[in-house]
Amino acid sequence: MSSKSKRKEKQEVRWGRVAIAAGLFIGVVLLTAFLLSLLFPEPEDLKDGAPEYAEKILLTKNEYSRPGTALTKVNDVVIHYVANPGTSAKANRNYFENLRQSADNPDGVKASAHFIVGLDGEVIQCIPLTEIAYANYPRNEDTVSIEVCHPDESGKFSEDTYRAVVTLTADLLKKYGLTEENVIRHYDVSGKLCPKYYVEHEDAWQKLREDVREKLLRGE
Ligand SMILES: [Zn+2]
Repeated sequence: MSSKSKRKEKQEVRWGRVAIAAGLFIGVVLLTAFLLSLLFPEPEDLKDGAPEYAEKILLTKNEYSRPGTALTKVNDVVIHYVANPGTSAKANRNYFENLRQSADNPDGVKASAHFIVGLDGEVIQCIPLTEIAYANYPRNEDTVSIEVCHPDESGKFSEDTYRAVVTLTADLLKKYGLTEENVIRHYDVSGKLCPKYYVEHEDAWQKLREDVREKLLRGE
């Protein structure tokens, strides 16, 4: 074999190695991207148009609290109270999360909400606005739900909580091109005593709607 063809052969071997290395590199990159996509929420979860002040601590997809069913239209925003005085937004979020564990949920309860407003007015988002929550049966398919924490048995919201509920509700109405007429209570959906204080005090409920209307008009 001439030294020329030997050189050519060496070169071919080198190119072969480069090709294998490049292939391996691309494979590792694709695998890493795939694993990252499993670890972190899908981009559509993050780009769902929810207000930025809402802290996204999304639930794990599961049949008891985050079924992953698409939410394709929103006609009303529904207000709830957590019915567990003094509990935090985080604790209520974790309650929804743990429903997927049969040890914590022997009766197979299905429950969740898109948002939870806490005792200090903090907002946690549990379900992306692209998916339904289990809060407003039989209207889970065309509503967005807000659970609200409260300090005592009366179910009345604290001042900080109330302000945050008004802001969040107004922001959601704006997003969907709705008005204060589209803010309803769980009670209006199914007759359930929820949110308790605002079912028992119609004037307080109408005031809340009026405050939402003003917030919308001011457009802040
Ligand atoms: Zn409710």
